[in-house]
Amino acid sequence: MTIRDILTFPNKKLREVASEVSLPISSDIHALIEDLAQTMYAAPGVGLAATQIGVAKRVAVTDIAWRKEEDSERELHVWINPEIIARSGSEKGEEGCLSLPKVYENVQRATSIKVRWVDLEGQSHESHFEGFQAVALQHEFDHLDGKIFIDHLSVLKRKMVVRRIKKMQEDES
Ligand code: ZN
Repeated sequence: MTIRDILTFPNKKLREVASEVSLPISSDIHALIEDLAQTMYAAPGVGLAATQIGVAKRVAVTDIAWRKEEDSERELHVWINPEIIARSGSEKGEEGCLSLPKVYENVQRATSIKVRWVDLEGQSHESHFEGFQAVALQHEFDHLDGKIFIDHLSVLKRKMVVRRIKKMQEDES
């Protein structure tokens, strides 16, 4: 297991549309998932998509329960070839992203989603998710399509955010 570098905006690899993972799940994909989980926990973050470490495969991990400061129980969820097959409701909430450090903006998302995905054994599942879990999944699965959360902002708002990021990056370099 290795902690991998997380790509940051505006790295072009964040815009790649990831390809489907073929079944059965290979040992390479198992290793990728271990790296993703370790990288997410080290960050720390509540989710990480393979796209964010420069691997264009449809794989993401989430753990919305674990808190580093409390060292609580880990609840790792692995999502292979995830698809949102139904959405309902709409709500606005603040989001951040490990690929856009220090940027937090309100994003409109579906309140409730139905997801189909494949697990580590190659078994297919379908389930409903709501609330923060639903938001986290929409955010992570967007990465697999080369999308980032600021794409959901208005053009004007997005321009302001991009300008702020560039300014932060200039100040840091
Ligand atoms: Zn993200």
